[in-house]
Amino acid sequence: MDFDILISGAGPAGLCLARALSGCGLRIGVVEQQPLAAIENPAYDGREIALTQQSAQSMRDLGLWARIEADEPTAFAQLRDAKVMNGPSPFAMVIGHQLSQHSELGWLVSNHLIRRAAYQEVCAAQQQHQDIQLLTGEQVARAHTDAGAAHVTLASGKQLRARLLVAADSRFSGTRRALGIGADMHDFGRSMLLCTMSHEQPHQHVAWEWFGYGQTLALLPMNDDPATGAHRSCVVLTLPHHALEPLADMDEAAFGQDLTRRFDHRLGAMQLASTRHLYPLVGVRPHRLVAPRFACVGDAAVGMHPVTAHGFNFGLLGIATLARELRAAQAAGQDIAAPDLLARYERAHRHATLPLYLATTFVARLYTTDHPPARLLRDAALRLAQNFPPFKRMVAATLSGKH
Ligand SMILES: Cc1cc2nc3c(=O)[nH]c(=O)nc-3n(C[C@H](O)[C@H](O)[C@H](O)COP(=O)(O)OP(=O)(O)OC[C@H]3O[C@@H](n4cnc5c(N)ncnc54)[C@H](O)[C@@H]3O)c2cc1C
Repeated sequence: MDFDILISGAGPAGLCLARALSGCGLRIGVVEQQPLAAIENPAYDGREIALTQQSAQSMRDLGLWARIEADEPTAFAQLRDAKVMNGPSPFAMVIGHQLSQHSELGWLVSNHLIRRAAYQEVCAAQQQHQDIQLLTGEQVARAHTDAGAAHVTLASGKQLRARLLVAADSRFSGTRRALGIGADMHDFGRSMLLCTMSHEQPHQHVAWEWFGYGQTLALLPMNDDPATGAHRSCVVLTLPHHALEPLADMDEAAFGQDLTRRFDHRLGAMQLASTRHLYPLVGVRPHRLVAPRFACVGDAAVGMHPVTAHGFNFGLLGIATLARELRAAQAAGQDIAAPDLLARYERAHRHATLPLYLATTFVARLYTTDHPPARLLRDAALRLAQNFPPFKRMVAATLSGKH
Protein backbone atom coordinates (compact mmCIF):
# COMPACT_ATOMS: atom_id res chain seq x y z
CA MET A 1 0.00 0.00 0.00
CA ASP A 2 1.45 3.41 -0.96
CA PHE A 3 -0.57 5.48 1.52
CA ASP A 4 -3.08 5.14 4.32
CA ILE A 5 -4.91 8.23 3.07
CA LEU A 6 -4.68 9.68 -0.41
CA ILE A 7 -6.18 13.15 -0.87
CA SER A 8 -7.07 14.37 -4.35
CA GLY A 9 -6.60 18.17 -4.49
CA ALA A 10 -4.31 20.53 -2.55
CA GLY A 11 -6.73 23.44 -2.29
CA PRO A 12 -7.39 24.85 1.19
CA ALA A 13 -9.51 21.80 2.13
CA GLY A 14 -7.04 19.11 0.98
CA LEU A 15 -4.09 20.85 2.64
CA CYS A 16 -5.96 21.50 5.90
CA LEU A 17 -7.04 17.85 6.07
CA ALA A 18 -3.45 16.67 5.56
CA ARG A 19 -2.31 19.08 8.28
CA ALA A 20 -5.08 17.95 10.65
CA LEU A 21 -4.11 14.28 10.24
CA SER A 22 -0.35 14.66 10.46
CA GLY A 23 1.38 13.15 13.48
CA CYS A 24 -1.00 10.28 14.22
CA GLY A 25 0.92 7.57 12.39
CA LEU A 26 -0.92 7.69 9.04
CA ARG A 27 0.96 7.95 5.75
CA ILE A 28 -0.72 10.75 3.80
CA GLY A 29 -0.46 11.49 0.09
CA VAL A 30 -1.83 14.65 -1.58
CA VAL A 31 -2.16 14.81 -5.37
CA GLU A 32 -2.45 18.26 -6.96
CA GLN A 33 -2.72 19.03 -10.65
CA GLN A 34 -1.17 22.49 -10.35
CA PRO A 35 2.60 22.94 -10.30
CA LEU A 36 4.38 23.34 -6.95
CA ALA A 37 4.96 27.08 -7.53
CA ALA A 38 1.18 27.72 -7.63
CA ILE A 39 0.71 25.95 -4.30
CA GLU A 40 3.79 27.43 -2.62
CA ASN A 41 2.94 30.99 -3.57
CA PRO A 42 -0.73 31.19 -4.61
CA ALA A 43 -1.75 34.25 -6.58
CA TYR A 44 -4.35 36.73 -5.26
CA ASP A 45 -7.73 35.51 -6.51
CA GLY A 46 -10.09 38.33 -5.46
CA ARG A 47 -11.71 36.34 -2.64
CA GLU A 48 -11.88 37.67 0.90
CA ILE A 49 -13.10 34.71 2.92
CA ALA A 50 -15.56 35.49 5.72
CA LEU A 51 -14.67 33.22 8.63
CA THR A 52 -17.02 32.33 11.46
CA GLN A 53 -15.64 32.48 15.02
CA GLN A 54 -15.63 28.69 14.97
CA SER A 55 -13.52 28.65 11.79
CA ALA A 56 -11.18 31.26 13.28
CA GLN A 57 -10.61 28.83 16.15
CA SER A 58 -9.99 25.93 13.71
CA MET A 59 -7.47 28.09 11.85
CA ARG A 60 -5.72 28.82 15.16
CA ASP A 61 -5.68 25.11 16.04
CA LEU A 62 -4.19 24.23 12.64
CA GLY A 63 -1.53 26.93 12.97
CA LEU A 64 -2.75 28.90 9.94
CA TRP A 65 -3.86 31.97 11.88
CA ALA A 66 -0.45 32.60 13.49
CA ARG A 67 1.35 32.07 10.17
CA ILE A 68 -0.84 34.55 8.32
CA GLU A 69 -0.59 37.13 11.10
CA ALA A 70 3.19 36.76 11.30
CA ASP A 71 3.53 37.48 7.56
CA GLU A 72 0.85 40.19 7.36
CA PRO A 73 -0.23 41.67 10.71
CA THR A 74 -3.23 43.45 9.15
CA ALA A 75 -4.43 40.45 7.12
CA PHE A 76 -7.43 39.66 9.36
CA ALA A 77 -10.20 42.26 9.26
CA GLN A 78 -13.05 42.36 11.75
CA LEU A 79 -16.51 41.64 10.36
CA ARG A 80 -18.32 43.60 13.03
CA ASP A 81 -21.87 43.82 11.68
CA ALA A 82 -23.73 42.89 8.51
CA LYS A 83 -26.54 44.63 6.69
CA VAL A 84 -28.88 43.44 3.97
CA MET A 85 -30.58 45.86 1.58
CA ASN A 86 -33.20 45.43 -1.13
CA GLY A 87 -33.60 47.52 -4.30
CA PRO A 88 -33.16 51.32 -4.07
CA SER A 89 -34.75 51.48 -0.60
CA PRO A 90 -32.47 53.00 2.08
CA PHE A 91 -33.91 50.46 4.56
CA ALA A 92 -31.41 47.84 5.76
CA MET A 93 -31.83 44.76 7.93
CA VAL A 94 -28.90 44.94 10.34
CA ILE A 95 -27.30 41.92 12.03
CA GLY A 96 -25.31 43.41 14.90
CA HIS A 97 -22.37 41.72 16.60
CA GLN A 98 -24.21 42.13 19.96
CA LEU A 99 -26.35 39.16 18.89
CA SER A 100 -23.27 36.91 18.74
CA GLN A 101 -21.62 37.33 22.18
CA HIS A 102 -18.39 38.51 20.49
CA SER A 103 -17.13 41.95 19.58
CA GLU A 104 -17.44 40.94 15.92
CA LEU A 105 -19.56 38.45 13.94
CA GLY A 106 -16.48 36.96 12.31
CA TRP A 107 -13.31 37.75 10.37
CA LEU A 108 -12.22 38.32 6.79
CA VAL A 109 -8.97 37.20 5.22
CA SER A 110 -7.72 36.75 1.64
CA ASN A 111 -8.10 33.27 0.18
CA HIS A 112 -4.57 33.20 -1.24
CA LEU A 113 -3.18 33.84 2.28
CA ILE A 114 -5.17 30.88 3.64
CA ARG A 115 -3.82 28.69 0.86
CA ARG A 116 -0.23 29.83 1.39
CA ALA A 117 -0.40 29.30 5.15
CA ALA A 118 -2.00 25.85 4.68
CA TYR A 119 0.86 24.85 2.37
CA GLN A 120 3.45 26.13 4.86
CA GLU A 121 1.77 24.23 7.69
CA VAL A 122 1.83 21.03 5.62
CA CYS A 123 5.56 21.52 4.99
CA ALA A 124 6.18 22.11 8.71
CA ALA A 125 4.14 19.01 9.62
CA GLN A 126 6.06 16.94 7.06
CA GLN A 127 9.35 18.15 8.50
CA GLN A 128 8.26 17.20 11.99
CA HIS A 129 6.54 13.87 11.31
CA GLN A 130 7.73 12.78 7.84
CA ASP A 131 4.23 11.56 7.01
CA ILE A 132 2.95 13.75 4.12
CA GLN A 133 3.93 13.38 0.49
CA LEU A 134 2.78 16.13 -1.87
CA LEU A 135 2.63 15.12 -5.54
CA THR A 136 2.24 18.34 -7.53
CA GLY A 137 1.79 18.66 -11.28
CA GLU A 138 -0.07 15.32 -11.14
CA GLN A 139 -3.74 14.84 -11.94
CA VAL A 140 -6.04 12.09 -10.68
CA ALA A 141 -7.28 10.62 -13.95
CA ARG A 142 -9.04 7.44 -12.79
CA ALA A 143 -10.10 6.08 -9.42
CA HIS A 144 -12.02 3.11 -8.04
CA THR A 145 -12.19 1.28 -4.75
CA ASP A 146 -12.69 -2.35 -3.72
CA ALA A 147 -12.88 -4.15 -0.38
CA GLY A 148 -9.11 -3.97 0.16
CA ALA A 149 -8.01 -0.57 -1.19
CA ALA A 150 -8.62 2.57 -3.22
CA HIS A 151 -6.84 2.50 -6.59
CA VAL A 152 -5.85 5.72 -8.34
CA THR A 153 -4.27 6.24 -11.74
CA LEU A 154 -2.64 9.61 -12.35
CA ALA A 155 -2.62 11.29 -15.77
CA SER A 156 1.15 10.61 -15.87
CA GLY A 157 0.36 6.87 -15.74
CA LYS A 158 1.54 6.43 -12.14
CA GLN A 159 -0.62 4.00 -10.10
CA LEU A 160 -1.28 4.56 -6.39
CA ARG A 161 -3.06 2.53 -3.72
CA ALA A 162 -4.42 3.75 -0.39
CA ARG A 163 -6.63 2.49 2.42
CA LEU A 164 -8.85 5.58 2.07
CA LEU A 165 -9.27 8.00 -0.82
CA VAL A 166 -10.52 11.53 -0.03
CA ALA A 167 -11.78 13.89 -2.74
CA ALA A 168 -10.92 17.56 -2.10
CA ASP A 169 -10.79 18.46 -5.77
CA SER A 170 -13.45 21.22 -5.95
CA ARG A 171 -17.23 21.27 -6.31
CA PHE A 172 -16.88 19.74 -9.79
CA SER A 173 -14.84 16.87 -8.30
CA GLY A 174 -13.73 14.39 -10.96
CA THR A 175 -12.73 11.91 -8.24
CA ARG A 176 -16.26 11.95 -6.80
CA ARG A 177 -17.67 11.33 -10.28
CA ALA A 178 -15.17 8.50 -10.87
CA LEU A 179 -16.54 6.83 -7.72
CA GLY A 180 -20.03 6.93 -9.25
CA ILE A 181 -21.46 9.63 -6.97
CA GLY A 182 -23.83 12.02 -8.72
CA ALA A 183 -24.72 15.55 -7.62
CA ASP A 184 -27.56 18.05 -7.93
CA MET A 185 -26.18 21.22 -9.45
CA HIS A 186 -27.94 24.55 -9.57
CA ASP A 187 -26.53 26.94 -12.13
CA PHE A 188 -27.73 30.43 -11.15
CA GLY A 189 -27.01 31.75 -14.65
CA ARG A 190 -24.93 34.50 -13.11
CA SER A 191 -21.25 35.14 -12.42
CA MET A 192 -19.49 37.16 -9.79
CA LEU A 193 -16.78 39.77 -10.31
CA LEU A 194 -14.50 40.20 -7.30
CA CYS A 195 -11.82 42.81 -6.65
CA THR A 196 -10.48 45.15 -3.98
CA MET A 197 -11.74 48.74 -4.16
CA SER A 198 -10.54 51.73 -2.17
CA HIS A 199 -13.22 54.27 -1.21
CA GLU A 200 -13.53 57.70 0.40
CA GLN A 201 -15.82 56.88 3.32
CA PRO A 202 -14.92 54.32 6.02
CA HIS A 203 -16.96 51.09 6.05
CA GLN A 204 -17.07 50.82 9.86
CA HIS A 205 -16.33 47.09 9.41
CA VAL A 206 -19.87 46.43 8.24
CA ALA A 207 -20.43 43.86 5.47
CA TRP A 208 -23.13 44.67 2.92
CA GLU A 209 -25.35 42.39 0.90
CA TRP A 210 -27.34 44.62 -1.43
CA PHE A 211 -29.92 42.87 -3.58
CA GLY A 212 -30.41 45.62 -6.13
CA TYR A 213 -32.78 45.34 -9.08
CA GLY A 214 -30.86 43.74 -11.93
CA GLN A 215 -27.64 43.35 -9.91
CA THR A 216 -26.41 42.11 -6.53
CA LEU A 217 -23.62 43.91 -4.72
CA ALA A 218 -21.67 42.75 -1.72
CA LEU A 219 -19.05 44.65 0.20
CA LEU A 220 -16.66 42.91 2.57
CA PRO A 221 -14.67 45.25 4.83
CA MET A 222 -10.88 45.02 4.76
CA ASN A 223 -8.38 46.83 6.96
CA ASP A 224 -7.12 50.17 5.68
CA ASP A 225 -4.17 49.86 3.32
CA PRO A 226 -1.14 49.80 5.66
CA ALA A 227 0.96 51.73 3.12
CA THR A 228 -1.46 54.51 2.12
CA GLY A 229 -4.15 54.44 4.83
CA ALA A 230 -6.84 54.17 2.12
CA HIS A 231 -10.17 52.60 3.17
CA ARG A 232 -10.57 49.30 1.35
CA SER A 233 -13.19 46.64 0.74
CA CYS A 234 -13.59 43.52 -1.32
CA VAL A 235 -16.43 44.18 -3.74
CA VAL A 236 -18.54 41.41 -5.24
CA LEU A 237 -20.76 42.25 -8.19
CA THR A 238 -23.19 39.58 -9.42
CA LEU A 239 -24.59 39.87 -12.94
CA PRO A 240 -25.18 37.66 -15.99
CA HIS A 241 -21.75 36.63 -17.30
CA HIS A 242 -22.06 38.60 -20.56
CA ALA A 243 -22.61 41.81 -18.55
CA LEU A 244 -19.54 41.22 -16.39
CA GLU A 245 -17.04 40.57 -19.17
CA PRO A 246 -16.91 44.21 -20.39
CA LEU A 247 -16.56 45.35 -16.76
CA ALA A 248 -13.62 43.03 -16.25
CA ASP A 249 -11.87 44.60 -19.27
CA MET A 250 -12.93 48.23 -18.69
CA ASP A 251 -10.14 50.75 -18.02
CA GLU A 252 -9.51 51.40 -14.35
CA ALA A 253 -10.86 54.96 -14.15
CA ALA A 254 -14.12 54.06 -15.92
CA PHE A 255 -14.46 50.96 -13.73
CA GLY A 256 -14.07 53.07 -10.58
CA GLN A 257 -16.78 55.46 -11.80
CA ASP A 258 -19.06 52.57 -12.72
CA LEU A 259 -18.75 50.99 -9.26
CA THR A 260 -19.17 54.37 -7.52
CA ARG A 261 -22.47 54.74 -9.39
CA ARG A 262 -23.58 51.16 -8.70
CA PHE A 263 -22.93 51.75 -4.98
CA ASP A 264 -24.98 54.95 -5.25
CA HIS A 265 -22.00 57.00 -3.90
CA ARG A 266 -22.77 55.55 -0.43
CA LEU A 267 -19.03 55.19 0.29
CA GLY A 268 -17.97 58.16 -1.84
CA ALA A 269 -15.73 57.74 -4.89
CA MET A 270 -14.37 54.23 -5.40
CA GLN A 271 -11.16 53.17 -7.12
CA LEU A 272 -9.91 49.81 -8.32
CA ALA A 273 -7.10 48.56 -6.06
CA SER A 274 -6.42 45.02 -7.37
CA THR A 275 -6.83 42.68 -10.29
CA ARG A 276 -10.41 41.62 -11.18
CA HIS A 277 -11.62 37.99 -11.00
CA LEU A 278 -14.72 36.27 -12.41
CA TYR A 279 -16.44 33.20 -10.93
CA PRO A 280 -19.50 31.37 -12.32
CA LEU A 281 -22.23 30.74 -9.75
CA VAL A 282 -23.08 27.05 -9.43
CA GLY A 283 -24.32 25.39 -6.24
CA VAL A 284 -23.52 21.67 -5.94
CA ARG A 285 -25.05 19.09 -3.62
CA PRO A 286 -23.54 15.60 -4.01
CA HIS A 287 -25.93 12.67 -3.52
CA ARG A 288 -23.48 10.93 -1.17
CA LEU A 289 -20.41 12.09 0.76
CA VAL A 290 -18.94 8.61 1.13
CA ALA A 291 -18.56 5.29 -0.70
CA PRO A 292 -16.53 2.19 0.23
CA ARG A 293 -13.02 3.45 1.13
CA PHE A 294 -13.93 6.94 -0.07
CA ALA A 295 -15.05 10.32 1.36
CA CYS A 296 -15.47 13.89 0.04
CA VAL A 297 -14.45 17.05 1.90
CA GLY A 298 -14.42 20.80 1.17
CA ASP A 299 -16.33 22.01 -1.87
CA ALA A 300 -16.38 18.41 -3.15
CA ALA A 301 -18.74 17.66 -0.21
CA VAL A 302 -20.90 20.79 -0.50
CA GLY A 303 -20.54 23.54 -3.09
CA MET A 304 -22.23 26.57 -1.53
CA HIS A 305 -23.45 29.75 -3.26
CA PRO A 306 -21.07 32.38 -1.77
CA VAL A 307 -23.90 34.72 -0.66
CA THR A 308 -23.92 33.24 2.87
CA ALA A 309 -20.10 32.98 2.86
CA HIS A 310 -19.99 29.43 4.15
CA GLY A 311 -18.02 27.32 1.65
CA PHE A 312 -14.69 27.25 3.46
CA ASN A 313 -16.37 27.42 6.86
CA PHE A 314 -18.17 24.18 6.00
CA GLY A 315 -14.90 22.84 4.60
CA LEU A 316 -13.16 23.35 7.97
CA LEU A 317 -16.13 21.88 9.82
CA GLY A 318 -16.11 18.70 7.70
CA ILE A 319 -12.35 18.35 8.05
CA ALA A 320 -12.62 18.58 11.84
CA THR A 321 -15.37 15.92 11.87
CA LEU A 322 -13.55 13.51 9.55
CA ALA A 323 -10.13 14.03 11.17
CA ARG A 324 -11.60 13.34 14.61
CA GLU A 325 -13.07 10.04 13.38
CA LEU A 326 -9.87 9.00 11.58
CA ARG A 327 -7.58 9.87 14.49
CA ALA A 328 -9.80 7.95 16.92
CA ALA A 329 -9.88 4.88 14.65
CA GLN A 330 -6.12 5.01 14.16
CA ALA A 331 -5.49 5.36 17.92
CA ALA A 332 -7.75 2.37 18.58
CA GLY A 333 -6.06 0.26 15.87
CA GLN A 334 -9.32 0.10 13.88
CA ASP A 335 -9.93 0.34 10.13
CA ILE A 336 -9.78 4.03 9.10
CA ALA A 337 -12.17 3.27 6.23
CA ALA A 338 -14.70 1.28 8.24
CA PRO A 339 -18.22 1.72 6.76
CA ASP A 340 -19.72 2.85 10.09
CA LEU A 341 -16.99 5.50 10.52
CA LEU A 342 -17.64 6.88 7.03
CA ALA A 343 -21.42 6.75 7.61
CA ARG A 344 -21.03 8.77 10.84
CA TYR A 345 -19.00 11.40 9.01
CA GLU A 346 -21.57 11.61 6.23
CA ARG A 347 -24.48 11.93 8.67
CA ALA A 348 -22.80 14.60 10.78
CA HIS A 349 -21.62 16.71 7.85
CA ARG A 350 -24.91 16.47 5.96
CA HIS A 351 -26.80 17.44 9.09
CA ALA A 352 -24.51 20.45 9.64
CA THR A 353 -24.63 21.73 6.06
CA LEU A 354 -27.84 20.74 4.29
CA PRO A 355 -30.26 23.21 5.95
CA LEU A 356 -28.04 26.20 5.14
CA TYR A 357 -27.33 24.88 1.63
CA LEU A 358 -31.06 24.74 0.90
CA ALA A 359 -31.80 28.07 2.61
CA THR A 360 -28.95 29.77 0.72
CA THR A 361 -30.16 28.46 -2.62
CA PHE A 362 -33.70 29.67 -1.81
CA VAL A 363 -32.55 33.15 -0.72
CA ALA A 364 -30.21 33.51 -3.70
CA ARG A 365 -33.05 32.62 -6.08
CA LEU A 366 -35.59 34.91 -4.41
CA TYR A 367 -33.24 37.87 -4.29
CA THR A 368 -32.14 37.53 -7.89
CA THR A 369 -35.75 37.40 -9.15
CA ASP A 370 -36.85 40.84 -10.27
CA HIS A 371 -40.59 40.32 -11.01
CA PRO A 372 -42.75 42.90 -9.15
CA PRO A 373 -44.30 40.32 -6.72
CA ALA A 374 -40.82 39.03 -5.86
CA ARG A 375 -39.58 42.61 -5.26
CA LEU A 376 -42.43 43.17 -2.80
CA LEU A 377 -41.84 39.84 -1.09
CA ARG A 378 -38.11 40.60 -0.82
CA ASP A 379 -38.79 43.93 0.84
CA ALA A 380 -41.47 42.53 3.16
CA ALA A 381 -39.20 39.64 4.19
CA LEU A 382 -36.38 42.02 5.16
CA ARG A 383 -38.67 44.30 7.19
CA LEU A 384 -40.22 41.31 8.92
CA ALA A 385 -36.79 39.88 9.68
CA GLN A 386 -35.57 43.23 11.04
CA ASN A 387 -38.38 43.20 13.60
CA PHE A 388 -38.08 39.54 14.53
CA PRO A 389 -35.14 39.19 16.95
CA PRO A 390 -35.12 35.34 17.03
CA PHE A 391 -34.52 35.28 13.27
CA LYS A 392 -31.69 37.81 13.53
CA ARG A 393 -30.16 35.91 16.42
CA MET A 394 -30.25 32.76 14.28
CA VAL A 395 -28.52 34.58 11.37
CA ALA A 396 -25.92 36.02 13.79
CA ALA A 397 -25.29 32.52 15.18
CA THR A 398 -24.87 31.18 11.64
CA LEU A 399 -22.44 33.96 10.73
CA SER A 400 -20.38 33.48 13.87
CA GLY A 401 -20.47 29.69 13.51
CA LYS A 402 -22.78 28.30 16.19
CA HIS A 403 -24.71 25.86 14.01
C1 LIG B 1 -16.50 34.19 -5.12
C2 LIG B 1 -16.35 33.29 -3.93
C3 LIG B 1 -16.41 33.81 -2.65
C4 LIG B 1 -16.30 32.98 -1.54
N1 LIG B 1 -16.41 33.50 -0.29
C5 LIG B 1 -16.37 32.68 0.79
C6 LIG B 1 -16.50 33.18 2.11
O1 LIG B 1 -16.66 34.39 2.32
N2 LIG B 1 -16.47 32.31 3.17
C7 LIG B 1 -16.30 30.98 2.96
O2 LIG B 1 -16.28 30.22 3.95
N3 LIG B 1 -16.14 30.48 1.73
C8 LIG B 1 -16.19 31.28 0.64
N4 LIG B 1 -16.01 30.77 -0.61
C9 LIG B 1 -15.80 29.33 -0.77
C10 LIG B 1 -14.33 28.93 -0.64
O3 LIG B 1 -13.52 29.71 -1.47
C11 LIG B 1 -14.25 27.45 -1.02
O4 LIG B 1 -15.11 26.73 -0.16
C12 LIG B 1 -12.86 26.88 -0.87
O5 LIG B 1 -11.91 27.58 -1.61
C13 LIG B 1 -12.89 25.44 -1.37
O6 LIG B 1 -11.68 24.83 -1.13
P1 LIG B 1 -11.44 23.36 -1.71
O7 LIG B 1 -10.05 23.02 -1.29
O8 LIG B 1 -12.55 22.46 -1.32
O9 LIG B 1 -11.56 23.49 -3.28
P2 LIG B 1 -10.69 24.31 -4.33
O10 LIG B 1 -10.21 25.58 -3.77
O11 LIG B 1 -11.55 24.35 -5.56
O12 LIG B 1 -9.40 23.40 -4.59
C14 LIG B 1 -9.48 22.19 -5.29
C15 LIG B 1 -8.06 21.78 -5.69
O13 LIG B 1 -8.11 20.51 -6.33
C16 LIG B 1 -7.27 20.54 -7.47
N5 LIG B 1 -7.79 19.51 -8.41
C17 LIG B 1 -8.95 19.52 -9.09
N6 LIG B 1 -9.09 18.41 -9.81
C18 LIG B 1 -7.96 17.65 -9.57
C19 LIG B 1 -7.52 16.39 -10.04
N7 LIG B 1 -8.26 15.65 -10.88
N8 LIG B 1 -6.32 15.93 -9.61
C20 LIG B 1 -5.56 16.66 -8.76
N9 LIG B 1 -5.93 17.88 -8.30
C21 LIG B 1 -7.13 18.35 -8.69
C22 LIG B 1 -7.39 21.97 -7.99
O14 LIG B 1 -6.29 22.32 -8.81
C23 LIG B 1 -7.41 22.75 -6.67
O15 LIG B 1 -6.13 23.10 -6.24
C24 LIG B 1 -16.11 31.59 -1.73
C25 LIG B 1 -16.03 31.07 -3.03
C26 LIG B 1 -16.14 31.91 -4.12
C27 LIG B 1 -16.06 31.33 -5.50
